[in-house]
This record gives sequence, structure tokens and C-alpha cells, in this order.
Amino acid sequence: MTKKIITVIKGDGIGPSIIDSALEILQAAGCDFDYEFVDAGLAALEKTGELLPQETIDTIARNKITLKGPLTTPVGEGFTSINVTLRKQFGLYANVRPVKSFVGTKARYDDIDIITVRENTQGMYSGLGQVTSEDGNEAQAMSMITRDGAEKIVTFAYELAVREGRKKVTAVHKANILKSTSGLFLKVAREVAERYPEIESTEMIVDATCMKLVMSPEEFDVIVTTNLFGDILSDLCAGLVGGLGMAPGANIGEDAAIFEAVHGSAPDIAGKNLANPTSVILASIQMLEHLEMGDTAERIRSAVADVIKTGDRTTRDLGGNHGTTDFTQAVIDRL
Ligand code: NAD
Repeated sequence: MTKKIITVIKGDGIGPSIIDSALEILQAAGCDFDYEFVDAGLAALEKTGELLPQETIDTIARNKITLKGPLTTPVGEGFTSINVTLRKQFGLYANVRPVKSFVGTKARYDDIDIITVRENTQGMYSGLGQVTSEDGNEAQAMSMITRDGAEKIVTFAYELAVREGRKKVTAVHKANILKSTSGLFLKVAREVAERYPEIESTEMIVDATCMKLVMSPEEFDVIVTTNLFGDILSDLCAGLVGGLGMAPGANIGEDAAIFEAVHGSAPDIAGKNLANPTSVILASIQMLEHLEMGDTAERIRSAVADVIKTGDRTTRDLGGNHGTTDFTQAVIDRL
């Protein structure tokens, strides 16, 4: 049987160290993949003069499954976010960001289990029509939502809820103010909800959602929302389970999927062996589940859970005083 080939983009900052950690753990768990390593972001810019070389795009298209480290987007004009470009280029319309409590973290809660399903290609975050006037005193950007886009993401969220035995889907919006864009999203969300009578459907305005997530997160199960709100809410949710080091994300399209951490390249701790690799290990678990390798995914999850619960060689953000490599070895020892 031919081996599954996975595209790997190690990324910038802490990316290479946390991706290496995930790859070592996949190997220790007996995963027999072949990997094709390609560059994007600053690493690619330095080597090829481009942030997203054609070879990288071709490899992602060919292998269909990609494990990716965070990419630094240089601040300033002339640089479009590579993440936004990749999501649009490959039609990765659904961004699935689960957060689940692990015993032993320093999080305020110990019973969180929320999946944010974020629309990934439309809305304010997609960067349409960004213009600054010549004198620099006026700036504008465009937000576009389509019926098709809203229907696809809300249906995706409900299908995920059914598949995973979830009870409730909350559509998060700001339709009271953003009457056209958020209004259309909410209208479509209500229509789709009617097709799933077995699931409890609720809707909530985004600002109230932030407050409720902090005060009573147990009220949430699956959240479905537009791009920018999903970006913000999923970081909030990461905070509920101990921080960005604990939050993975899957970007899913019809023909390709990219698995990554929710966080960025963390330049403040890059190169210091301080990063918590759990985010990208959990992303690789999402990848295994996508590849219908649920048993291996579960073995890795239990090993990670045991390392965190026992505080064996954990990283600083988890209350320990070890580095990325020690944490990785602790997981491998259990596999
Ligand atoms: P960040 O997510 O990189 O870091 C925020 C804070 O969280 C930092 O203090 C960092 O040290 C900490 N942190 C993040 N990941 C951690 C981990 N695994 N373990 C321990 N601590 C961790 O956000 P930022 O500093 O605003 O962004 C840095 C760069 O990353 C920017 O160029 C941004 O554009 C990019 N970015 C990329 C992605 C992506 O590739 N998907 C996502 C977000 C930001």
C-alpha cells in the first residue's frame, strides 16, 4: 500500500520546534506517513523572495492534507496574510477550533468542551477593498457575506454537531448593527437550524457571547459564526482552557485541509525552547481524525492528557519549568 503523503510547512518563530514535536509524536505513535516539506511565510521569503511560492501551493494541492506551523505576516502595506491567501486559494471555508479542558492546566475552568466553527473565507477578515486615502486620514474595508457561504458554514456546523453527538448550536452574530452582512448570516442560520430539529439551536449577539463565555461557558457546545468574530471568540475560548498553547484549528475545504495551531509564531519566545507544543499536537490529532485514524488520535490525546495531569516535564504556560523538547519526550515515553 502506498503511504499517505502529508505536506508540512514548519512555519516561522516557534513553528519549526512545535512542528518537529508533533512529527516525533506521530512517529512514536506508529503513524507511517511520508512528508513533503515546503516553505511559506518569512522562511520562504528569505529563500525564494516570495511569501507563498508556487511549489508550496502545488504541493498542498497535490497531497490535500497539510500540517502547518504559524506564519509571520510582516506588518505593513504590500503584504497580504498568507493564511488568508491559503484559505481563499483552497476554498478552506470551515475553520474548526475545539477547546477541551485538560486536568492539570492553570485554567480557571476544568469542564470546558466547546467547538467554534468559524467561516473562513468571507466577511471583514477576508481583507476585501482595503483602501487608505492618499493623505492617510481615511481608511476603509469591505465585508461581504453570501447566502451560499453562510449556508455552507452553518450546515457544516450542524453536520459536525450530529456526527459528534453534540446537543446545541449557537449562531453568533451582530445583526442588530451589521444589518446587511450579519443580518444575512443570521437569516440563513435560522433557515438551516430548521432542518435539524434534534439539535437545540440558539442565537446570540457577539458582545453578549463574550461575556457569557467568561461567566458561564458550560452553556456553549458548538458555536458557528462569521470570520472575524470566530477569530476573536476562538482565542477567548483558548483562554478558558489554559491559553493559546492548548488550541488547535483545522481549515477544511472540499479538496484540501490544513491543520495548524490557533496561535501565531510567538516571536517573544521563539528559539528559546519555551513553546508549548500541545496546540500543534492537538492539530495533528484533528488531522488523524480527518484521516479516520481515530484510535491513534485517542492514544496521543491520552498521552498528552497524562503528561499535563501529572505535570511531568510540562512547559512554563502549564505551570512547569521544562521546554518543548522535554514535554515532547514525556508524551513519547507514554506512547
Ligand atoms: P501569538 O499567537 O504568536 O502570541 C501571543 C502570545 O501567546 C505570546 O505571548 C506568545 O508567547 C504566546 N504563545 C503563543 N503560542 C504559544 C505556545 N505554543 N506556547 C506558549 N506560549 C504561546 O500572537 P502575536 O504575537 O500577535 O503574533 C505573532 C505573529 O504570528 C504575527 O506575525 C501574526 O500575524 C502571526 N499569526 C499567525 C497565525 C497563523 O499562522 N495561523 C495566527 C495568528 C498570528
